[in-house]
Amino acid sequence: MSKQQINSFEIVQGLLKDSVKQLNLKPVVYDMFKEPNRVMTVAVPVEMDDGSVKVFVGYRSQHNNALGPYKGGIRFHQDVTLDEVKALSTWMSLKCAVVGIPYGGAKGGVIVDPKKLSPTELERLSRGYIRAIAPMLGEEMDIPAPDVNTNGQVMAWMMDEFAKQRGFNEFGVITGKPMILGGSAGRVEATARGCVITVREAAKALGLNMNGANAAVLGFGNVGGIAARLLVEQGVKVIAVNDSTGGAYNPMGLDIALLQSHKNKTGSVKGCPGTKEISSDEILALKCDILIPAALENQITEENAGTIKAKIVAEGANGPTTPGADKILFQNKVLVVPDVLANAGGVTVSYFEWVQNKAGYYWTEEEVNSRLECRMVEAFNCVYGLFKKRRDVDMRGAAYLLAVDRITEGMRLRGWLG
Ligand code: GLU
Repeated sequence: MSKQQINSFEIVQGLLKDSVKQLNLKPVVYDMFKEPNRVMTVAVPVEMDDGSVKVFVGYRSQHNNALGPYKGGIRFHQDVTLDEVKALSTWMSLKCAVVGIPYGGAKGGVIVDPKKLSPTELERLSRGYIRAIAPMLGEEMDIPAPDVNTNGQVMAWMMDEFAKQRGFNEFGVITGKPMILGGSAGRVEATARGCVITVREAAKALGLNMNGANAAVLGFGNVGGIAARLLVEQGVKVIAVNDSTGGAYNPMGLDIALLQSHKNKTGSVKGCPGTKEISSDEILALKCDILIPAALENQITEENAGTIKAKIVAEGANGPTTPGADKILFQNKVLVVPDVLANAGGVTVSYFEWVQNKAGYYWTEEEVNSRLECRMVEAFNCVYGLFKKRRDVDMRGAAYLLAVDRITEGMRLRGWLG
């Protein structure tokens, strides 16, 4: 099956069905998890710089809000589909429950290649999209954040547009904002930082010394690029990374700062001095201890999972591993730290940002990082403990059981399940 044919929404539905069965829950529980509570499709007209108008299609999926307001990022990508956004919103519900933050799950997406837009066109698209979905948003209703190809500047435009609609500032309606506009210290690095904390905990569980371990990272964006730097700070040798244009390999260890400046200059990690080119499949098959898939969905499939030699796979991206690949990794005793745990640091610090916005009082970076550290370690221990106890599920299965159990308890107490 080609990567394009794999449907992430069907995958997450299948996994949820298994979890509901394993927990002996009533079928109505699965019926609640299976489909998002509410989905909006929008057509956003955007005036282009040449005066013409282009219409972009976008979505916002609100999966479940039993435990709190809907929460989740907005992605700008040419391959966005409604099913992908629905899957991503489902993962957000699970992710928030795994780290125990009081949110439900949501996700937004716009079908666009943002690299083809000028900065002014990007601003008009960001404002137009948020205007279109504004009736669904609010700091107690649904709180967007950055995701693939969106960042603090995009959040600032969106927050401003929402404030114009309402007539007053509501900073807590969007997280991942620049710090001067109510953003949190540590938010930009949070997803990668959380991911590296789970890698460290997984290494501890396996008796693997981080100092001197080897790692490979797929993706060099906000998650992969920062995770690579943080791994090096922990004494890990990062030997390969890539981005959508190519890869860079050096068995002696990569210079991450040099790679970052090469990418800033050329738009790619490929061709960075002191590195050899390497394909994504070659990276997966490298002899290394830690592998961090931090790009898009469905990178690790039945076809390539068997080539993976890493002992730990920590999913910086959402949905990078297919169920077929999961089975192979489980058989091969690879410890997979699933997305709903490994990349939950981002939404955790989004939660801190929202709390700070509501209080109007801001924490230091040290405070944010130490609270993140506590949450991630606790979540890792809960998932790993259940994985060790049950023995019939992998780490993803354990994380799903934990999340489904918590959300179901919320739905039951609210009287949603009869
Ligand atoms: N887009 C990120 C994720 O997939 C962050 C979401 C958020 O901060 O709300 O977890």
